[in-house]
Amino acid sequence: MSQTEREVRVRFAPSPTGPLHIGGVRTALYNYLFARQHGGKMILRIEDTDSQRFVPGAEEYINEALAWLGIDIDEGVREGGPYGPYKQSERRDIYREHVKMLLDAGKAYIAFDTPDELNAKRAEIPNFQYDASTRNSMRNSLTLPAEEVKRLIDEGTQYVVRFLVEPGRDVEVDDLLRGRVTIKSDILDDKVLYKSADDLPTYHLANIVDDHLMKVSHVIRGEEWLPSAPLHVLLYEAFGWSDTAPQFVHLPLLLKPDGKGKLSKRDGDRLGFPVFPLEWHDPTSGDTSRGYRESGYLPEAVVNFLALLGWNPGDDTEVMSMDELIAKFSFAHCSRSGAKFAFEKGKWFNHTYLQTKSDAELAELFKPVLKAHGIEPSDFSDEYIARAVGMVKSRINFVSDLWDHAGFFFKEPVEYEAKSIRKRWTPDMPGNMAALAELLESQPDFSAAVLEPIVLGWIAEKGMHLGNVMNAFRLTVVGECKGPHMFEITELMGKDETIRRIRTGIERIQPAE
Ligand code: GLU
Repeated sequence: MSQTEREVRVRFAPSPTGPLHIGGVRTALYNYLFARQHGGKMILRIEDTDSQRFVPGAEEYINEALAWLGIDIDEGVREGGPYGPYKQSERRDIYREHVKMLLDAGKAYIAFDTPDELNAKRAEIPNFQYDASTRNSMRNSLTLPAEEVKRLIDEGTQYVVRFLVEPGRDVEVDDLLRGRVTIKSDILDDKVLYKSADDLPTYHLANIVDDHLMKVSHVIRGEEWLPSAPLHVLLYEAFGWSDTAPQFVHLPLLLKPDGKGKLSKRDGDRLGFPVFPLEWHDPTSGDTSRGYRESGYLPEAVVNFLALLGWNPGDDTEVMSMDELIAKFSFAHCSRSGAKFAFEKGKWFNHTYLQTKSDAELAELFKPVLKAHGIEPSDFSDEYIARAVGMVKSRINFVSDLWDHAGFFFKEPVEYEAKSIRKRWTPDMPGNMAALAELLESQPDFSAAVLEPIVLGWIAEKGMHLGNVMNAFRLTVVGECKGPHMFEITELMGKDETIRRIRTGIERIQPAE
């Protein structure tokens, strides 16, 4: 069957060894976009055969992160499906049976070498590799008599099963992004496929067997797995599955924002951005790592940002919903070289997506931030919060930024900006402000359209300095000389609060020496 006629079935196959790195999220996303575009299936397979590296909570974290981002799974541990179980530690029988198939066919062999024996060999032979050149000098089922092998196994001696790589072969790896790469089988070692100690296969065997049994059509994964691909090609061949072997797509790495090299958690710590989708609490060290969700990113912004790290739609469109991404995605427009992790662009996407939210929606998102600052949101009407948010939203990248820009609507100033006091709080200002408060007392209508001409007219009539008076006014109400239009502020805040703040300001602001 040709690749194009085949039902598209892709899998995201993380190992639950810690929080899902943002690069892994991009891999999951590209799998998802490709599956949805082709009306195919997205499988989530948990590759937990390395019991040493298992981390509690990691699987739940993966599920939660994908759900948050809207990357829906069709078949998986929680979803079920026709080819389960979808967790490798629950598929031991299947792997055992497949290991036996390879042993019976003479494509694999049993090796008894202990770690000490292997270390001794490494010390003796420079660049030692377990392969055609060395396997005959090792303790394995190729060198020991059959009865001896049987006896050792019956006695419970630990062993591994190794893949028998034939030397002198050209191994061809076809990758959708990279084309065909041919490598010599001589450089490959006889990889361990199974360990009797924990009765579990290694990554290579489990991965290949499952991709075959789960009818995976495309293996879309990070470039770091490219070195495994020749071995995987040989494994498909050894099982007689080459005709239905999946198409490989190895995605380029995510690179440091400011230079060459792979993006790491340290880059995030150093430059102040998360490299994980959700906050992660390390169960062993107790350390907390920042997450996109907890840092105030919207999932649609993260998805859009990640989609463009290594792919473009063929034109300069940047803002795309999940549905648009699904429609436009194509490996033809995936880059072959690494994508710099331009985290500032991520902020821009978040800003852009926040602007698409209504004031009421943003107000809801803002309420927990208000609470965190000791403000009880129910002390204010929903309309008040929404209007306050609406006045400043064009300036924010994150919901939490709303506090910096609109916090004064909910809490009177406790401090007044020193530089503005120096500049604007001239000796006549306490008197001017008292007069302004009196003028405002006499105004029945506090709407901006009515109040603005009255106050400006009054300033002109008294021959006062417009800039100084308006900025001093703002200083008493806001605490600093920035923010939305002054008369929109006072319209929303209302007469009593405005006048109260002016009078508090007169008492509290100490003129500069
Ligand atoms: N378990 C591997 C990982 O953690 C899967 C690699 C693959 O997709 O083949 O990424």
